[in-house]
Amino acid sequence: AYDYSDRIGRVEPSATLAISNLAAEKEAEGADIVDLSVGEPDFDTPENVVEAGKEALDAGHTGYTSSNGIAPLREAIAGKLRDDGIDASADEVIVTPGGKQALYETFQTLIGDGDEVVLLDPAWVSYEAMVKLAGGDLTRVDLASHGFQLEPALEDLAEAVSDDTELLVVNSPSNPTGAVFSEGALEGVRDLAVEHDLAVISDEIYERIVYDADHVSLASLDGMADRTVTVNGFSKAYSMTGWRLGYLHATEEFVGEAGKLHSHSVSCATNFVQRAGIEALENTDEAVEEMREAFADRRDLLVDLFEEHGVDVDVGDGAFYMMIPVGEPRADDADWCERAIEQAAVACVPGSAFNAPGFARISYAASEERLREAVDRLVANDLL
Ligand code: PLP
Repeated sequence: AYDYSDRIGRVEPSATLAISNLAAEKEAEGADIVDLSVGEPDFDTPENVVEAGKEALDAGHTGYTSSNGIAPLREAIAGKLRDDGIDASADEVIVTPGGKQALYETFQTLIGDGDEVVLLDPAWVSYEAMVKLAGGDLTRVDLASHGFQLEPALEDLAEAVSDDTELLVVNSPSNPTGAVFSEGALEGVRDLAVEHDLAVISDEIYERIVYDADHVSLASLDGMADRTVTVNGFSKAYSMTGWRLGYLHATEEFVGEAGKLHSHSVSCATNFVQRAGIEALENTDEAVEEMREAFADRRDLLVDLFEEHGVDVDVGDGAFYMMIPVGEPRADDADWCERAIEQAAVACVPGSAFNAPGFARISYAASEERLREAVDRLVANDLL
């Protein structure tokens, strides 16, 4: 029989995927579920990107590529990062099958047994799992009591980090809260990182989806260039979740180390997908703007609908998520989400999955009609 590793016993399957799978199962059985659990845009991939993928296939781009990714894509990524104020070159980039793989490789490269990693809660589900798989220990700083913002929590963060801290993870715009951290907050992170000589992962995968705020890339701040791993991907900005394309940027030395793991695991990201990625970076401004505007309208609609029913949301300025409080402070969010799907046929993710009990994460990557339907159903079932 199989004798499983200690490592695999440390983690559970992804809670967000578990809910989405349950919703999909119910739909397959014929149920009409409003699925607000998903972390993917509900738009088609822009047509010109699809065409670029097809053309690459027709041109025979079906073999392995160099492990870190094709040069023109790494050049395009470096150019995009320079636009964000990061002094990037193509040799400092690894192209990965999704941002998730870039994060996985980063944790494996930096974290060993007993190394301390600081997370800002609520935090995306997979950070914890990836830290545990690498053998690291978690220290957590709660932003829920600060309206999900980092700037008012900087003192708490200062107490949490020490010279023993190896790595801090920053995700702005945030999944699951939608919060966009202010420049002041990021400067606070920088000051602590420099003081304690920390490495920082900046997961900027929602960076193109921001509303009344500006996105600032952490690695563009003085003192951060040599200690930041910037992670990004194509899934959210260009509605390309199933294409599996992402990347990391860090120093050339880091890329040399992480590149070993990359070459011995995935070998490379899919060849024709990388070619479509160039088109996505270079020719999609209009499509991205259309999606951004649609998300902004949906966010505003949802906030109004929740407000009508007395639910006050600390709404963020980015991504396509919000965390709604589910009743009494720290009420049983898993129970609430179970009732939401079983009674109201509305799927959302319990805040506990993000270490934020008492909340449910709503994804508004759904049509306005479906969002209205969801709120109506929650109200009809006494869940709001
Ligand atoms: N980081 C965050 C915060 C996410 O929400 C996701 C996807 O849900 C990812 C990274 C990874 O996305 P992908 O692997 O599709 O690029």
